[in-house]
Amino acid sequence: MHQKPNNPLKKLYMLIILNMIVFCAVMYMVILHIDNSAKSRATTTSASSMVVHQDCIFCNIVAGKAPSTIVGESERVMAFKNIRPRAPIHYLIIPKSHSCDMREITDPHIRGEMWEMVRSLALKLEEPQAFNIVVNNGAVAGQSVFHTHWHFVSGKSLYSAGVRL
Ligand code: AMP
Ligand code: ZN
Repeated sequence: MHQKPNNPLKKLYMLIILNMIVFCAVMYMVILHIDNSAKSRATTTSASSMVVHQDCIFCNIVAGKAPSTIVGESERVMAFKNIRPRAPIHYLIIPKSHSCDMREITDPHIRGEMWEMVRSLALKLEEPQAFNIVVNNGAVAGQSVFHTHWHFVSGKSLYSAGVRL
């Protein structure tokens, strides 16, 4: 019986084509992975216009993915204990929807609820119900977490350090 001669060139071509297919498949998967991880870091906005930054510690607290001790909550606002308190009472009041600083809060309902939260926390204080609201708005003003927040401080005079506003 006559047998076809084995063509080594043909074998080489097949190998090259196979390699190219595998390379394309791997590249496709890499591009897909990069695209997906970029999407997962991005800001997401749900139908209720709630903005969430997945890399933001306060957004994670709102979502219940990071631990916190909640001291007050309303529809759009949350208050929880500062992890490094500078006074016997040191809470942070934040809008649940992500914004970097106060200038970005365009919704008047959020602004109103922030003040309502201040009042509700203040009314729970022991007499004389004295407190300070401190806002470090912007990096130059000392802001270190870029999700809008107000410090609610009570039980210690902030002016003992020598600064007087
Ligand atoms: P600021 O420097 O004005 O941006 O304040 C940020 C505050 O967030 C600091 O006082 C921190 O102690 C506080 N902080 C940071 N991470 C957490 C956290 N996971 N839980 C509670 N407070 C936090
Ligand atoms: Zn956030």
